[in-house]
Amino acid sequence: MSRAKLESLGLKLPLFPTTSVGSFPKPDYLVKARAEFSKDKITEDQLRDLERKATAFWIETQEKLGVDVLVDGEMYRGDMVAYFAQRLPGFTQGGLVRSYGNRFYHKPIITGEVTWPGPITVDWWKYAQGLTKKPVKGMLTGAYTVMDWSFNEHYPDRRATALALADVIRKEVEALIAAGCKIIQIDEPALSVRPEELAIAIEAMDATTKGLRAYFITHACYGAFEHIYPGMLEMGVDNFDLEMSNSDLDLLELFRRHPFTKDISFGVVDVHSHTQEDASAVRKRVEQALTIIPKEQIWIDPDCGLKTRTVDEAIAKLRACVAAAQAFRN
Ligand SMILES: [Zn+2]
Repeated sequence: MSRAKLESLGLKLPLFPTTSVGSFPKPDYLVKARAEFSKDKITEDQLRDLERKATAFWIETQEKLGVDVLVDGEMYRGDMVAYFAQRLPGFTQGGLVRSYGNRFYHKPIITGEVTWPGPITVDWWKYAQGLTKKPVKGMLTGAYTVMDWSFNEHYPDRRATALALADVIRKEVEALIAAGCKIIQIDEPALSVRPEELAIAIEAMDATTKGLRAYFITHACYGAFEHIYPGMLEMGVDNFDLEMSNSDLDLLELFRRHPFTKDISFGVVDVHSHTQEDASAVRKRVEQALTIIPKEQIWIDPDCGLKTRTVDEAIAKLRACVAAAQAFRN
């Protein structure tokens, strides 16, 4: 069982551990600084200082709220795929394409063999972990999603692309583990988009995590899970972090038909809404989870990254997660 794995890694977590998916809103001064940096009005060092200040703010905030497993909040990141693509040899920046809603991003192009240039996220993880005694998650984007959100002009097909990327991301995982990181989240928001490719996503995750000593989480946003469940449970991770609230918990119906065999980070607050769910609504979601999933397997967090909320809204939603967990521990 995964709680045994956590203990074997030296992690003593309470029942219903609380965490968050990864991104937090950037404070106004950082939004402004990023815009100035893109126009060469401030230096990279000046931007870095403010990213560190914002990271420290979020670590302190999570500690004060009583969150159990912290994240650095991704103050240094824009897009979750472009961030890595910009740092990996083999990628070229492509033109602007539209993703969800009105967001535009530069879709990366793979134009050569992708290689690992050395640690990308490790210094950020060390900095964040150095600010707290609570465990801080390592945060990466999974090979399948990086492949799906990029153009490929180099590898023969999508499977070969995903597996080549998995080799590279595995090196980053190994570097995080060598630095002392014990909980690593590898996001795969593209997981359910093409059900016929589930086997590729599973193979790529296996190639990324197999045999490595860490507790692995993957986050996937709401999608066509009815087409990939229960097959997705074969993925080489310990914990699936899923957007449950925004789907009115209909995933629970799937779990009723076939037991959920991994740990789950159960999203209990909707990240797309400005309104703060009241405590009883959040508790009700956990109660429904408990009718189907054993309590030892349940973590509590928001549905998805909170970066589109205001700082105050994000804090209120995190507070609701912690309050729900505490209520169920008692
Ligand atoms: Zn998400």
